[in-house]
Amino acid sequence: MDEFDFIKQIQQPNYKQPSLIKGIGDDAAVFRQNYQDIVTAVDTFVENIHFSDKTMNPFHIGYRAVAANISDMAAMGCQPAYYMVSIVIPRHWDDDRLMQVYEGMNQIASEYAMDLIGGDTVSGNELVISVTIIGFVEKGKARYRANAKNGDIVFATGTLGDAAAGLHVLMSGVRDEQQAHSYLKKRHQMPTPRVTFASELGSVSRLVLNDVSDGIANESAEIAEASDVTITLQYDAIPTHVDLLDFSLNQQRNWKLFGGEDFELIGTVPAKNWPYILTASEKTGTPVTKIGQVSTNQKTNGSVFLEEDNHVSILHKAGYTHLK
Ligand code: ADP
Ligand code: MG
Repeated sequence: MDEFDFIKQIQQPNYKQPSLIKGIGDDAAVFRQNYQDIVTAVDTFVENIHFSDKTMNPFHIGYRAVAANISDMAAMGCQPAYYMVSIVIPRHWDDDRLMQVYEGMNQIASEYAMDLIGGDTVSGNELVISVTIIGFVEKGKARYRANAKNGDIVFATGTLGDAAAGLHVLMSGVRDEQQAHSYLKKRHQMPTPRVTFASELGSVSRLVLNDVSDGIANESAEIAEASDVTITLQYDAIPTHVDLLDFSLNQQRNWKLFGGEDFELIGTVPAKNWPYILTASEKTGTPVTKIGQVSTNQKTNGSVFLEEDNHVSILHKAGYTHLK
């Protein structure tokens, strides 16, 4: 299959988004927006850095690449609409494997009525997928990290540490354990971005959202720094899936605080608006838990503290960082 046949293969027979004017097939895509803010992000995934064929099949790789981008849209409180894919295809890959990557992307994109409107195709030595996502949000309603204030409640959706535990299980790869911990493995391979929950929060006037891509230690530090506030988290309050209890306390702690890639949301909201969070939680079937609070103190602003066993200590970022 050459590049042109490939593009024909992946092209959608029709598009779902009403704002689209030109999709795949010209030098660039065109859409028209009159009334909303346009929100865009890009994420790049490199074989053997972000994933390996030991833990993910091609379908999962595609699914997860788009899911991670959708999660960024959730964290901005916006609706995903379009995506573009720049792909470096390893020379030794066959057509079938390549199409599975696109099936994975298409499956999760379809759930959100998203359209694939362009991309770029080259060959190389390793699989690299770069997904650009475009979404829309009501004017002025994007959710920024810099908006946390004294007295806010810090909350998290879902349960934390699951994806890191799933990765651990997949890496340890004991054959007769294939069925055990299938929930945790799925959390690594097919994460669920929290778009519907985030978009139910439109009526909350001030709200911070951040998606958990690098672990809550890191994500809460990003909020504390951007907002110049102090965040204190309660370790015992961190929502934990029962399957995590099969692992040592040390593993649980590491995964919950630093694991990342759960693609849950953490956020802060004024205490008086907490009922809105509960309503959105119920309406969308999204578990939400209070995990801490925001305060201000000139000496500690920008930092995150962890309350654990009646003891408060500073929580350093220890998620994965590139270029260090
Ligand atoms: P150009 O030479 O103008 O860059 P290309 O031949 O690269 O055009 O692409 C032709 C069309 O196919 C464009 O609409 C482009 O966005 C789309 N396209 C190319 N590669 C991909 C891909 N991997 N995924 C989705 N769309 C793609
Ligand atoms: Mg091109």
